Amino acid sequence: MNTEPLQDAPKPIPIHEPTTIIADPQPQLTPSEIRKLRRQFVTVTHPRVEACGHRLDLSRQPRMRNCQSCWGTWLNNHGELVQTADELHSTDGGVDMLIGLQGVKFLKWFRRFMAGVASLKPSLEQGGEIQ
Ligand SMILES: [Zn+2]
Repeated sequence: MNTEPLQDAPKPIPIHEPTTIIADPQPQLTPSEIRKLRRQFVTVTHPRVEACGHRLDLSRQPRMRNCQSCWGTWLNNHGELVQTADELHSTDGGVDMLIGLQGVKFLKWFRRFMAGVASLKPSLEQGGEIQ
């Protein structure tokens, strides 16, 4: 006869439903608020052009309007634009259109760029300023 007290039957391990984690409700931001936040928290540092040390924002034309290094680097990074400009440049009235779209400075540097991509490049390293 078994006199030992009955062992408690192993208790079923309680299974907890995973607690639903309710995330903080996402604030609905308007595009302009997002832009504002981005400006606030994302510090955009534009790369420096090695030759001249100017910072270059590739999304707009060089701020240093007469800096050959800036323009050379900028145009080098806008192959598609340069190609489009080149096509436009050779059409009737294309030059005026180019000036309207990109400005006189652009035209000047674009022409110089096209005339001597090869000769512009070495001078980039010297960072010469052309007035
Ligand atoms: Zn520069």
